[in-house]
Amino acid sequence: MTIRPAPPLSAPDPQPPPTDPIQEPGTPEADWRAWQGLRALPAIDPLTHLPATAGRRPRVMVVAAHPDDEVLGFGGTIAVLAAAGVRLRLVSISAGESSHPHSSAPAARDLAAIRTRELHQALGRLGADVQSVFLGVPDGRVARHERELTGQVADLLLDCDLCVAPFSRDLHPDHEAAGRAVLAAGARRDLPVWEYPVWAWHWALPGDPRLPWHRAARIPLPPDARARKHAALECFRSQIHPLGDRPGDGAILPPEELAHFRRDFEVVWR
Ligand SMILES: [Zn+2]
Repeated sequence: MTIRPAPPLSAPDPQPPPTDPIQEPGTPEADWRAWQGLRALPAIDPLTHLPATAGRRPRVMVVAAHPDDEVLGFGGTIAVLAAAGVRLRLVSISAGESSHPHSSAPAARDLAAIRTRELHQALGRLGADVQSVFLGVPDGRVARHERELTGQVADLLLDCDLCVAPFSRDLHPDHEAAGRAVLAAGARRDLPVWEYPVWAWHWALPGDPRLPWHRAARIPLPPDARARKHAALECFRSQIHPLGDRPGDGAILPPEELAHFRRDFEVVWR
């Protein structure tokens, strides 16, 4: 999921900088669990929402801005689809190399390789034999590549039946640019696009009017898929444990953050 790097130091600004909701304390998962509206979202079975594909197995493409977004937001559903024989293509836009921009820990220099390995391991735990595509866009700069990204995604969608993308209003610049690019590519191919929130569970409040609840759907996770997702989440060691004990080494996904992704359902906007 990758925090955004701090802006470079510059001359003092008379205006206080705008606060970044992702850096602010987040909404406790207990608040989400206490809100009846989340449980009341219409439940869907993703398998019944795939178009009929005469003579071939359907293919779903899942796009992530950073290695872990797809498992956090959609990993349980990936396990469900994989178990049903749906073909999966996973597109990693960046390698997530900038998750710890202020860390001096040795691992911080090798995050691209570390996070790519973690993702492979996590996908194995989901039981997903996916076709992986790595686009190599620099972490933190997805918006600068949005136009070419839209074209690349549109090409990759040619043999797909559904596309799943980060939420285009997740308030993380990379997630939003990824979501916008995929929505544009999906429109070009006349394909449905589902968006999965990640950071929204942190900054939004139950019933938050900034979220498009009218097009939200809840995907219940059977026990096997939920167990697979929990096991997969443990693979992202570089994100759920501190890289070291110095400032800048802190975990991106401490337990209170990870709690949002241990539910027995996932939510998509569609
Ligand atoms: Zn991310």
